[in-house]
Amino acid sequence: MRFEIVTIFPEFFTSIFENGILRRALAEGLVTVGVHDLRVFTHDRHRTVDDRPFGGGEGMVLKPEPLAEALASLGIEPKAERISKTSEELIPEKGTGFSPYIYAAIEPGALAPEGNFPAESAQPRTRVILLSAQGRPFTQAMARELAATERVVLICGRYEGVDERINQIYCDLELSIGDYVLSGGELAAAVVVDATMRLVPGVLGNEASGDFESFGVADAEIAAAEDGVPRSQHGAGGLLDYPHYTRPADFGGLRVPETLLNGDHAGIRRWRREQQLRKTLANRPDLLQGATLSKEDEKLLEAIRDETE
Ligand code: SAM
Repeated sequence: MRFEIVTIFPEFFTSIFENGILRRALAEGLVTVGVHDLRVFTHDRHRTVDDRPFGGGEGMVLKPEPLAEALASLGIEPKAERISKTSEELIPEKGTGFSPYIYAAIEPGALAPEGNFPAESAQPRTRVILLSAQGRPFTQAMARELAATERVVLICGRYEGVDERINQIYCDLELSIGDYVLSGGELAAAVVVDATMRLVPGVLGNEASGDFESFGVADAEIAAAEDGVPRSQHGAGGLLDYPHYTRPADFGGLRVPETLLNGDHAGIRRWRREQQLRKTLANRPDLLQGATLSKEDEKLLEAIRDETE
């Protein structure tokens, strides 16, 4: 999979790609990243990328022409042209339920229930994304969808943002990484790259690791498996992850929960599941609605609720 990042601060990304899982994924060629300096696509002495907003007001706006040139240099056509070709180019994958392109006019009801992409079409080869505080919230479900895309183009805004016509003409989606305003899209792009690339097959040692952590997909079989050593994470099913501990067993006067020390695999599974439920109830009760809960989970949850009332 390839990421293309369009930015006025290309140097921002150097250290980000030199560490951890991303560095390994790049070294092994599982993921590639192109960082593109927007100023290369200017034609004046000052390499101007911004201008004052029509209608007045604070700040500056990223001009459309350099962005359009940058996208053209990456072979990105306006979405109207891409979509007319897409239906012939794409081999529809049954059950993916994603549309090739996102339109501003799409109704919320047309969205796929799990992710943020409209239903009833195939996974596109390329998605063009505008990082924006006004965008749809970036979620793990969306990261999973992007990880199945061949190429993701990320446009980093600055100042007051990007001329809206770039969004209208080229972008499949506006993405926000949270309800706060950053000074630029670079941090947001780094977040999207990081969360997405670790879900690309082969990047995490175990193919399915991404399914077994916070926000992971439901996997009833693994969650219910009673034999063998418990996995480091198992069957998150849309809940938050459970707490993790390592040596020493005593630290700062706190001892690691006894269940984790006694080798009772079924007991460890039960403890972890209970902790997932506790954490999710305490920190993100909204996730419980979409989570895959067994009868036993429901009972546990009721007991935890009773405790806290
Ligand atoms: N005027 C914009 C608004 O109120 O929504 C804020 C512009 S912000 C100062 C500059 C750039 O940072 C944006 O164009 C966008 O690329 C990026 N940005 C800011 N907050 C973001 C967020 N929560 N998620 C993604 N990108 C964000």
